[in-house]
Amino acid sequence: MDAFCPVCSQPMNWVSGHFHCEPCQTSYTQTALCPDCHQPLQELKACGAVDYFCQNGHGMISKKRVQFTYSPYSQE
Ligand SMILES: [Zn+2]
Ligand SMILES: [Zn+2]
Repeated sequence: MDAFCPVCSQPMNWVSGHFHCEPCQTSYTQTALCPDCHQPLQELKACGAVDYFCQNGHGMISKKRVQFTYSPYSQE
C-alpha cells in the first residue's frame, strides 16, 4: 500500500502499526473515508484483506475509491 505524507508528500514507511515519514520524523495513523459522504468507513478484515463499508448508506466501497487521510500519531 502506498501512503504519502500529508505534509511533504513523500512516501511513508509502515512501521509497527503506523506510518512514518522520514523527512518529517512524524508518525501518522491512516483513516479511510467514504468518497461520497467523507465519513470514516468501517474496516472489515477478512482473510488478510480489508474491505471498507460505509454506514451512511453507500455500502461497500471499492478500495480504489476509498479516500485516505492521515493524522499525526502519538506514541504516548
Ligand atoms: Zn513528511
Ligand atoms: Zn458514504
